[in-house]
Amino acid sequence: MTTIAFIGLGNMGLPMAKNLLGAGYAVTGFDLSTDAVKALAAAGGTAASSTADAVDGADIVVTMLPAGPQVRAVYGADILPNAKAGALFVDCSTIDVESARDVAAQAESAGFEMIDAPVSGGTGGAEAGTLTFMIGGTDPAVAKARPLLDVMGKTIVHCGGVGNGQVAKICNNMILGVSMNAVCEAFVMAERLGLDAQTLYDVTSTSSAQCWAITTYCPVPGPVPTSPANRDYAPGFTAAMMMKDLGLAEKAAETAGVDSKLGVATLERLKNYVETGGGDADFSGIIRMIRGN
Ligand code: NAD
Repeated sequence: MTTIAFIGLGNMGLPMAKNLLGAGYAVTGFDLSTDAVKALAAAGGTAASSTADAVDGADIVVTMLPAGPQVRAVYGADILPNAKAGALFVDCSTIDVESARDVAAQAESAGFEMIDAPVSGGTGGAEAGTLTFMIGGTDPAVAKARPLLDVMGKTIVHCGGVGNGQVAKICNNMILGVSMNAVCEAFVMAERLGLDAQTLYDVTSTSSAQCWAITTYCPVPGPVPTSPANRDYAPGFTAAMMMKDLGLAEKAAETAGVDSKLGVATLERLKNYVETGGGDADFSGIIRMIRGN
């Protein structure tokens, strides 16, 4: 049986690891949060005492960490020195393209195959096993990872060589951040001008403005009962994470010489929200700042 080490059991990692358990894989997990490791064990996984302990003997190592610095640190210090020969590395975190390519190059020098496999679909998609994976890596490495990805996701898009998954993800999240920002502005504008939120939802969800920020993550309570707005903006996807992704987008736009004014304006708004205490809330919570409450 293929054995899996799963590092990073947060909002996304834990449900993804649980789906692998549900599909019959042996999963050993580690997270800096002992509660997260306990939750994996309660679901039938094996609790590891460290990343080194988790990767010991694993055929495939999956990482779902916050950002580039954590991925660089965990691979450099714990995974590369302790993984068994022939292990495949699958990094599902959203990180900068440069870190993804550097870490994959280090893995290759040490004789390992690695793919970047960031995801879209939120915690709901992670729980339901319906994530979209954007993959960068060689054909053989992607083929080897495919059975696992099929358990955790519904749509698997091979975007090209190492790092290209992150390029796709950063572009996706810049569109998401900007569209949520516009949706929040529009809902506040409608409120002020006397149009109720449900009616605006009924129109925009079936008209040319239709987008994920409206139909899945509608930033006001009511129209989409599962959206974070209905639970006081508990994440979901935190504003801090979206700020990180828009920072990655800004860096990538600069590198590519692209004028990304809308991304930059949305990043500024998120920074403001995070600085005023919204970092742990869902990113759709920026509507409260726009509304002024
Ligand atoms: P999270 O903060 O809930 O989880 C990250 C986990 O990593 C935490 O439990 C943390 O304790 C753990 N961690 C940090 N450093 C570690 C280390 N050195 N060793 C072991 N564990 C460590 O974040 P999340 O929402 O699960 O997001 C994870 C990644 O997925 C991010 O890159 C994010 O941008 C991306 N993502 C998130 C969503 C979403 O909706 N939440 C959607 C798509 C992509």
